[in-house]
Order: sequence, then C-alpha cells, then structure tokens
Amino acid sequence: MSAIQRIYYRLWEYYGPQGWWPAESVFEMMVGAILVQRTNWNNVEQALRRLTPYLTPEKIARMSIEELESAIRPSGFYRQKAKRLKAFVRWYKAYDYKPEKLRHAETDALRTELMGIHGIGAETANVLLLYAFDHPVFVVDAYARRIFARFGLDIPEKEPAFRIQVESECPLDTEGFKEFHALIVRHAKEHCKMKPICSGCPLLADCQQVGVT
Ligand code: SF4
Repeated sequence: MSAIQRIYYRLWEYYGPQGWWPAESVFEMMVGAILVQRTNWNNVEQALRRLTPYLTPEKIARMSIEELESAIRPSGFYRQKAKRLKAFVRWYKAYDYKPEKLRHAETDALRTELMGIHGIGAETANVLLLYAFDHPVFVVDAYARRIFARFGLDIPEKEPAFRIQVESECPLDTEGFKEFHALIVRHAKEHCKMKPICSGCPLLADCQQVGVT
C-alpha cells in the first residue's frame, strides 16, 4: 500500500464516510463550488440561503448582474463571483443544463473546457468534475498540500503534477475521491490546522511532522 493510500484509509477509518458535497441539488453544488473561492463555507451558506429562490441555472441566467451581486454579497468578492456565475451558466446552457450530458465526456478535455470559463481555475474545475459530473479526480487544494507536506511526502508543488501523482499512487473510484477530498478538509479543520493538534491524530504514527514546531 502506498503512503497516500495509507493516509486515505486511516482518515476514512478515523472519521468515517463524509457524504459530501453538502448541497440539495447538483446545481446548488456547482454554485457553492464557485462561491467558496477565497472564503469560508459559513459565508457561502449565507449567500446560498439568500439565493435559494433563484437556484436553477435558468433563473441565474435571467437575473440581472446587480440582483445576483446583491444576493451573493455575504460570500465576499461578490462582483467577481457574480460574473463567474453568469459565465458558468452561459457555458452550461450549451449542455441544456444537464449534468448527465457531461458524465461521459473525456476528463482532461472537460477540465480544459471548464478552465476556459471566466474565473474557473484548476481547483474549482476539479471540484466540478468530481462532485457535479462524477469524474474520478483528486482535488488539489491548500489543505491537501499542507497535510501531505507535513506528512513528509515528496509531492510536486504544482497542479497537475500533484494530482496525477495522487491519482496514480492512490487509484480510487469517483465515490472514493469524493470521500478523500472531504476527509482531507475535515482533517485540516480538526487536527492538521495551521497550528496542528498532533495529539490523537490518526496519521501520527507515520507522520514526519515536517515544519511542525
Ligand atoms: S501528526 Fe500533526 S502534522 Fe502530522 S498529519 Fe497529524 S496533525 Fe498534521
């Protein structure tokens, strides 16, 4: 078993299944993935509550940019995010707003297409690929970088090299990668925080605690 697989299975045994992404619909998941850029989930939840009457792609497409900005204001950077949501629904319309039309697309080609939308970078594209379109990809985020670096793994700094290495050393199906991302977020919030709480950490036995003082 690779070191990355050991991390995955230890986190899974310790925290149990997380059942992510937290959303009532696939479209709400997509909107949340854009709103969470550069903010925390509490702010996203506030914005999503205000946006509840409009949570379909058709309604977002019909809203004026000012209405959309006002609704998502609690998520921060609301002007940029309103433009991003508008750009995203314009792109999504070409697929009749149906996620199933993208489930069997070629993964790398779809990632490139998503990253061509205004304001969608690699992390958001991978989140959409995984949770909206059911493609088995690993989401590289700041939490994964922090945990893997402290653990002592020799992982490339940059996407896509980081993602490709994880996917090859820890091949999982779509549900597995959904769990892995959710477990990493949970672990970064409960144990491997900025100031880590190593006592009781499920990875402690193997972790090299690189940079931890
Ligand atoms: S032992 Fe400490 S540094 Fe290592 S993963 Fe756990 S919390 Fe993070």
